[in-house]
Amino acid sequence: MDEAKIEKKEITFSGIPASPGIAFGEAFVVNVEEQPVAEEHIGAEEVDAEIDRFTSALAATETELGNLHRALEDEMGEEHGKILDTHRMILADEIMRGDTIRAIRERKVTAAYALHLTLDRVLTTFAGIKDEFLRERAADIRDVRRRVLHNLLGQKIEGFSALRKKAIVVARDLTPSDTAGIDKKYCLAFVTDSGGSTSHAAILARSAGIPAVVGLTDLSRHAKPHDQLIVDGITGTVILNPTPESIDMYREVQARYRELERELLTLRDYPAVTLDGHTIELSANIEVPDEVDDALSHGARGVGLFRTEYFFITRATLPGEEEQYRYYASVVKRMPSDPVIIRTLDVGGDKIARWVGDLEEANPFMGWRGIRFTLARTDIFRTQLRAIFRAAAHGNVKIMFPMVSVLEEVRLAREICEEVKEDLKRNRYQIGEKAEIGVMIETPAAVAIADHLAREVDFFSIGTNDLVQYALAVDRGNTKVSYLYDALHPGILRLLRDTVAAARKNKIWVGVCGEMPSSIQGALVLLGLGLDEFSAAPYLIPTIKKIVRSVTYDETRSLARKALGMGTAREVREHIERYIRDKRPELGEFLPEAAS
Ligand code: PEP
Ligand code: MG
Repeated sequence: MDEAKIEKKEITFSGIPASPGIAFGEAFVVNVEEQPVAEEHIGAEEVDAEIDRFTSALAATETELGNLHRALEDEMGEEHGKILDTHRMILADEIMRGDTIRAIRERKVTAAYALHLTLDRVLTTFAGIKDEFLRERAADIRDVRRRVLHNLLGQKIEGFSALRKKAIVVARDLTPSDTAGIDKKYCLAFVTDSGGSTSHAAILARSAGIPAVVGLTDLSRHAKPHDQLIVDGITGTVILNPTPESIDMYREVQARYRELERELLTLRDYPAVTLDGHTIELSANIEVPDEVDDALSHGARGVGLFRTEYFFITRATLPGEEEQYRYYASVVKRMPSDPVIIRTLDVGGDKIARWVGDLEEANPFMGWRGIRFTLARTDIFRTQLRAIFRAAAHGNVKIMFPMVSVLEEVRLAREICEEVKEDLKRNRYQIGEKAEIGVMIETPAAVAIADHLAREVDFFSIGTNDLVQYALAVDRGNTKVSYLYDALHPGILRLLRDTVAAARKNKIWVGVCGEMPSSIQGALVLLGLGLDEFSAAPYLIPTIKKIVRSVTYDETRSLARKALGMGTAREVREHIERYIRDKRPELGEFLPEAAS
């Protein structure tokens, strides 16, 4: 590390661990805030030069957007480049140019202020519009203004596109599409002021194997560009301007962690079987097809959750059937004999797709999400199902519906599946006709009617991220209430127990694809509750496998039985930690506090 920069005072921040690992590096502070533009006048003789400056700034911005467009296409596929279509249209708009040049000429103001005036008028008009789609365009106008102003004022823009060397991303908040747009090659870690351990930004970090800490409250106000940081994604600690002593200490922690990772990878080809012979399936959660490589190299047996919505939220337009078919088939063909569970579109909540249009909701997580959305937009649903059934011809695909809360949703969705299949067959498509159909159990209502649901589907996969959010009434992304967000709450354990019982009674299998098995306490109690499958981020699979292989099923069953009788999450946690200390001390290194 650069010694000159270590003179600043060290400050330690405590947040919520979101993705394990230790990272050292410079801060890349994402500057999404707009700078105020002062009213500044120029002399008559400066007008022409100012207009030239303005047109040069437009040209520089056009080049910048063109580069970004190409980078997005190269790294994420052709469709991702389309995200910038609106930006480029705004930049090329003749009225915007004409009005700004007129303001420079007539009011004798700087180009920056003239542009500010022009776009402010447009934005004021947009502010009164209810339509979400058009209001989203207002965000695009602001972004274009920010870019042109940065070029005019000679400032460097610190959007994600500017991340071109390895650094630690520091932001107040990251939306799922922000996170999906970060170039992972350059991102050593990321840290945010807001968010919880199961917010989508955290999930994406885990998928990419990048250390992350969220819920740091005000780190982004303290960290300046190029400040040195240490991120400990295991305990949730972030150190700003670390002293040489802290750096040495964390180098050791990092070396230990890396050694452990290497050791765990040697288990890749072994089954997830307990010491007394009980086997569970370990599969991977993926957001994009590229993650299949990580899933395979970390020993996943199939994909337990393919979050298809990331294909939809990172682009400005809806993908068509052929494009979706190729996208899904690319995953299935790489895992032709292992199950690939494709979840139908789960937009809504914080996963906002720009093509959706008017989506102003007071409570988006309780609103037009998941299956509610696809049953209302059956045009989108049918296209997706057609693509999935066609991709299913190449392997062992299962289809899963998210956010189910009433039985009718499942019945209706299944009817649509049958119609789609019939139509595809009539038109002589090769399809995976026997693809199993399952549901996510992620609302308390779904647990309460799990016996009914189990009679109408082939499998359950429990989404503990949302189940905890809805059952405990705790927003999964809200740092203020994150102390209440706890999957070990005995109420949650009882919901899990009831779901497993309903599945057993109806002889269907039941897995979990939420983040719960990613902590040692969660993995042990889920094992004891009798789940058949865990699906987790590829990088976490070796750890979970090691845990499963180090205990007996019998022990975890009694662990879970006792936990079910307890009154608080704290008691449950202490009970499991006691078991680890007394019976399986070698697992102690997987407890977060063991990391430092
Ligand atoms: C869940 O809710 O647990 C889940 C796996 O779905 P997501 O995290 O995508 O909402
Ligand atoms: Mg969910």
